[in-house]
Amino acid sequence: MPYTKRFDGRKFDETRKIEAKVGVIEKADGSAYFAFGDTKAIAAVYGPRTLFPQHLQNPVKGRIRCNYDMMSFSVSERKRPGPGRRGQEISHVTEKALEPAVKLDNFPNCVIEVYILILQANAGTRTAGINAASLALAHAGLPMIDLVSSVSVGKIGGKLCVDLIKEEEDFKEKNGEKSATDIPVAFLPRLGKVSLLQLDGKISSKELSEALEMAQESCNKIYEVQKRTLKEAFKEWK
Ligand code: ADP
Repeated sequence: MPYTKRFDGRKFDETRKIEAKVGVIEKADGSAYFAFGDTKAIAAVYGPRTLFPQHLQNPVKGRIRCNYDMMSFSVSERKRPGPGRRGQEISHVTEKALEPAVKLDNFPNCVIEVYILILQANAGTRTAGINAASLALAHAGLPMIDLVSSVSVGKIGGKLCVDLIKEEEDFKEKNGEKSATDIPVAFLPRLGKVSLLQLDGKISSKELSEALEMAQESCNKIYEVQKRTLKEAFKEWK
């Protein structure tokens, strides 16, 4: 079934309204809020501090330990509280997406804890979480070689779209078969490097290249918002 008009009226290469803020949690070393429309994420960073138990320490470089979770009230059908397999997977890929951006060799034997909480979920929570976490790491004043900017891109009814909503992720063909392809991506925009690429569904290699270009363009826009947010917050600092 062709998808000619997006459910929420956006252009195919348009993200939802982006909101970003840093310094939302006073007690954390760094914190941020990031929203794609009604998908809302908060990230808090603590550390670096010495990693225990000691056998987990790496004398060459520090590590990022990420904890992603969705609040029970973040979706209309209450989500079971506490960790699950999905949360573990997202925490793991988020660590991998953030690690290349931070100069971890400055912190041997240490851990940087990153907590991501999803306040409201309408698809794209891992990408919103990565954007918030990247801002929170920078807000904590950690040495970084780049920020990380993330968005999902997908193929819905034969059409490539950025920043999918849940209705799009659940898009079905006339025969009732689920046909959406969802590709969460993260870039280090200044370096032009990919640090996250997952793919749920089917897509040709030609379309995948086009989708990645669309994602990169959106990530460049997200990067500008992230930089502006940090500059605003540190305006008073000279
Ligand atoms: P992402 O949020 O990164 O797109 P998924 O594709 O796993 O990750 O999830 C898509 C969406 O499905 C979520 O954003 C959320 O809206 C919904 N969802 C995920 N887990 C649950 C859950 N346990 N209960 C209700 N809705 C959920």
